[in-house]
Amino acid sequence: MNRFFDDKPDYRFEPPQAVFARFEQSEPVDLRDAEDAVVAFEAVDANWLLRWERFDYKRPGALETHWAAYWKDLGRSSPVESDAFADIPIYRFEFTTPRGGPFFDEVEKFETVPRWFLFIRDDHGLPMDVFGNLFAAPVTAQYNVSLAPDEVAPGLDTVFDMGVWPDASEADIRAAASAARSSDFLGVFDIGQGSASALLDGSRQPELYFDLGCGVYRNANTSPTPLRFCWTNRPPVVLSHWDADHWAGGLKDPSALPRTWVAPRQSIGPVHAGFANSIVQAGGRVLIWGNAQQSVTTRSGPRQVTVSRCLGTGRNGSGLVLTAEDQRTNQSWLLTGDAGYHELSIALPSNLSAVVIPHHGATMNHKSVPPAPGGSIGNRRLLYSFGSGNKHGRTAVQHPTAQAVALHHSHGWNQGAWRAATIPGNVVAGGDVVSTATHPNGRLGGVIVSWIGPPNPSPTPCGAILGQPQSCSISLDQS
Ligand SMILES: [Zn+2]
Ligand SMILES: [Zn+2]
Repeated sequence: MNRFFDDKPDYRFEPPQAVFARFEQSEPVDLRDAEDAVVAFEAVDANWLLRWERFDYKRPGALETHWAAYWKDLGRSSPVESDAFADIPIYRFEFTTPRGGPFFDEVEKFETVPRWFLFIRDDHGLPMDVFGNLFAAPVTAQYNVSLAPDEVAPGLDTVFDMGVWPDASEADIRAAASAARSSDFLGVFDIGQGSASALLDGSRQPELYFDLGCGVYRNANTSPTPLRFCWTNRPPVVLSHWDADHWAGGLKDPSALPRTWVAPRQSIGPVHAGFANSIVQAGGRVLIWGNAQQSVTTRSGPRQVTVSRCLGTGRNGSGLVLTAEDQRTNQSWLLTGDAGYHELSIALPSNLSAVVIPHHGATMNHKSVPPAPGGSIGNRRLLYSFGSGNKHGRTAVQHPTAQAVALHHSHGWNQGAWRAATIPGNVVAGGDVVSTATHPNGRLGGVIVSWIGPPNPSPTPCGAILGQPQSCSISLDQS
């Protein structure tokens, strides 16, 4: 596997002389009131790439044909040719910029058209935090920033974006989604700063995962070690979107990669293409949810599960959301990944008794208005998945934010002790809130939600117990 994806928290490296870098994400999402922002890029060593025989950017047609052939069996678990990504020097770059500083005003534009840049090392350049591994600390170095040359950028798209990847058929996506046969419970797992949830069967074992994340980069230390998921039912994984904190759990558990992964067509770069490649190399399948596919609904007994594509921009806002509905109790659950409520393409189901709060309780776009809670008062759950002491670049941002807490409170969700707190997350909230952590270093464990009332958080048949990972570390400790 490419060294970027190895679980090596002590990985050491020399920052590269030059990289092609593509805008990846920013935090916060809505910069209107932000004092500063962290801007992140996915990158690849430029000098290495320009010498690589598989990057013949001067012959764009041949390059496309070559890479279309490499990815053609992405959706089937079939033997693959030798690992094209094994040696690519992949990096993540990050810098924190004040209002008015470099890139600050352009972030929204990048979300729509993520352009390629050329970063060249220069002692008088912009200080950047460079990550050489998903789970290791960054090294700081200075870089000059310019746009990547016009003749190279299309080739970078061909190799590192998914333009030449095939869409999965609706039948294949439907077959994967129909794994949610009973949806008796919802599990929100404590995987640190990130998101991993699942619809569970009657014995509390996952039937379908919705995201399989964990803490990455600066937040890598927020994840449990080891991290082992339950595969008893052979569940597929539906990715809400391609951000690493929603898929990197797949690299921690050796049984995770050789599965069926459903993921939306989005613009990506070297880190995410490299992760998809890891799945394929491990014998798993990546079913790309194409742009034409709006939603897929599966029904089983009283339960109905819908996965649908969002209408927003950027990676957070254009992914997949999941809703589950129960006809007997007339209640529903909503999991949006990191998308704002305004970015959903479907009418919100009525009577929402459980919502996994968008983006770990981050401050969202001002248009993201929470739905009113439904269900009975004792069985309403607003679920916060975040890691203790999470950090976002060098900003002061920490999830959950006081703004997200106040907003949900004003729309009827009881935030318990967090309502009056200046820094929510420092204590256990109570009310409708259940969280996976408290700051600065408390792990509270996973959460189980049912249609009827808070279930007894007893161990699953796998025997998962908080803090005592054996075969399985996704315990359900709270309800
Ligand atoms: Zn995200
Ligand atoms: Zn996220």
